[in-house]
Amino acid sequence: MNATSKVVAVAVPAPLYQTYDYQLAPQDPGKNDQQERLIGRRVAVEFGHRGLIGIIVEVREEAHHDQSALKTAQLFKDEEPVFSKDMLATLLWASTYYCHPLGECFHAALPSMARKKATLPTLRVRKWHRTPKPFEGRANATHQKQILDLVASHRDGIWEDALRLIKASPGQLKLLEQKGYLEFSEHVHFSATQRRAAPDKALPLNPEQQKVYESLHALNGFSPALLEGITGSGKTEVYIRLVEEYIKQGRQALILIPEINLSPQTFARFQSKLSEAVVLVHSALGDKEKYQAWQMARLGHAKVVIGTRSAIFTPFKALGLIIVDEEHDNSYKQNDGFKYSARDLAVKRAQQQQCPVILGTATPSLETLYKVEQGHYSYQRLNTRAGNASLPDVALIDIRSRPLTDGLSPPLLKAIGDTLEAGNQVIVFQNRRGYAPTLMCESCGTLVQCPNCDARLTVHSHPPHLHCHHCDLKTDIPKQCSSCHGVHFAALGAGTERIESSLAQRFSEYDIVRLDRDTIKNPTTLNHALNKIHEGSPAMIVGTQMLSKGHDFHNVTLVAVLDADGLFFSADFRAIEKGAQQLIQLAGRTGRGDKQGQVLIQTRLPEHPLFQYIGAHDYHACALEQLQERMQCQLPPHLKMISIRADARDVQSTLDALSRLNAALANSVSALREAQVIGPIEASMTRKQGIFRSYLTILHNNPSARRDVLLALPAALHQAKSRGVRFAIDVDPIEYM
Ligand code: ADP
Ligand code: ZN
Repeated sequence: MNATSKVVAVAVPAPLYQTYDYQLAPQDPGKNDQQERLIGRRVAVEFGHRGLIGIIVEVREEAHHDQSALKTAQLFKDEEPVFSKDMLATLLWASTYYCHPLGECFHAALPSMARKKATLPTLRVRKWHRTPKPFEGRANATHQKQILDLVASHRDGIWEDALRLIKASPGQLKLLEQKGYLEFSEHVHFSATQRRAAPDKALPLNPEQQKVYESLHALNGFSPALLEGITGSGKTEVYIRLVEEYIKQGRQALILIPEINLSPQTFARFQSKLSEAVVLVHSALGDKEKYQAWQMARLGHAKVVIGTRSAIFTPFKALGLIIVDEEHDNSYKQNDGFKYSARDLAVKRAQQQQCPVILGTATPSLETLYKVEQGHYSYQRLNTRAGNASLPDVALIDIRSRPLTDGLSPPLLKAIGDTLEAGNQVIVFQNRRGYAPTLMCESCGTLVQCPNCDARLTVHSHPPHLHCHHCDLKTDIPKQCSSCHGVHFAALGAGTERIESSLAQRFSEYDIVRLDRDTIKNPTTLNHALNKIHEGSPAMIVGTQMLSKGHDFHNVTLVAVLDADGLFFSADFRAIEKGAQQLIQLAGRTGRGDKQGQVLIQTRLPEHPLFQYIGAHDYHACALEQLQERMQCQLPPHLKMISIRADARDVQSTLDALSRLNAALANSVSALREAQVIGPIEASMTRKQGIFRSYLTILHNNPSARRDVLLALPAALHQAKSRGVRFAIDVDPIEYM
């Protein structure tokens, strides 16, 4: 055995909580053999009987006791390690914090090309140029002559791709270069999503924006900041100005946005204002485009990366600033597999990178406000709307004793009619898609249930069918009731489809646009709908929570909320926080132009104190009160939460498995005694897609206790496991119970 071959610890993409030692196949002498260059690099390893792509996380200093017994790892010929030091540190931290296998964390962080392909394509493409040297080849070298003539005919050079068309091989070109007939220049390839645009002129910042800009600009090193700016206060303009400054200093910026649905608009705004390369990264990109974006950022060509959740894993050459826009948004949390929060990782990454991170929103999460309260994050505020816009008036419609037509009360219908007649647009918000949430047998009152889930089926009308929004089951509308054989059914309640058809009938002379997951399937359909709205002619926009996010519609003067109570009352302890955020964000969609906006909220609980905060546009006071309440109830963010779900084909197995887990943890972690352990208890929707689910929840307020629990979990899970039961760990869960 080669005495100099190194032993490396490799993380492999498998659900295993450890690394594996391999000996590294001998390298070309003098090349890539310093430790620095090895850590974070890809290797091909044999694991079990499979060939996998692993990542080197450590080079073992000590000689291995039995090196010859180790399998060999083959280094890939990548130009650089796929993970830089700061990315590696962030992912190592995340693997422990989220109790997720390291190899799978790495896997989630790489573009699929780097997960699958041995050779990573380079983005550099060659342009060939003819030198002045006259051709001295043989007279019958007609192909060579043809190539040289074609190159010569392009004064600025010709792309290598174009030369392929006349069958010029790379070998041939190289030969012609060696003989001195050709030269090449290398360029970085920009594909369609990565075009440079001529910059628009920036708006002059107003005094409030200017002050905030200066404070944020003064941030240096690791410095997390919350920018709480009311809707329409011009946060995006401030971001753009900051990013420009960082680019001038040769740094790059990462901007996270919550959803693909916001991408076209935000992207266009940044792209139109910044002359440097802006790259968009989101899940709808193809493998090749994602890889290109990744490389562009890594090589430093992309100055700004705008992306959704997973863009937090983008590598950078010189990252100088991270912005998390709409930081309160739940979509920053990945809810399956590697259950990370991109917002929290952004802060961690900024710490590794020693750079500022700005969390911006009109409605901060309680988690972030808590950090501000504790003095961990600095705080900036924008209190007025930019330009000429002012905040809308908010009024409640008490629907306790009013007849509703398809969920719409008479005063609301009148307000919609008046708004349209005045030439303006209306947003009608209902957080339920489909035609109706419930189908009931008119004879016996039975509600039609999903056969796989503890949930009712939603009625859809185009075409008529029933749909389970939890397991995606689609089925025909029954002809007979399964209990009483009655044949008459009633669709109860109103979803967006029903509201759309009702409004389309009543206000038939106006356009109507529906925005929900059934009508908006991709960025193209969204762009189409948004363009229609931006045209500005009077119209009704009916939609779900998709509507409340970040859109800047200038002609909307009325926002109608059909069922506010549904937003606040649920088993989730975050319901009030989330409901208030949603209402404030929705109110933020109106009155953004020069005209005064109005918000009408239908409720059966008009006395609820929450509406006073909403009416006063005082999210902050509402949030502080909630923060107090969470403290009294000993809930996050005061305490940290770890939830462990067990799934099985029967409920008892899930409960038993979690009891065993609880016992195993109690045995190995003394700190568990200080923590609150809730459960095991069944999930509020116990059965989903035919699988039963239960939870064990650990709440604690001591970071070292959390660490102990997380470190002990893999072994405890191993002890508690049994056939047919699957565990899933969620640290800082958002979807809880
Ligand atoms: P936010 O991100 O805080 O919701 P935006 O940045 O979208 O706010 O700004 C809201 C609107 O105000 C946009 O139409 C924007 O063009 C406009 N705006 C922002 N800053 C200014 C300014 N300084 N002068 C004039 N208009 C502005
Ligand atoms: Zn179902």
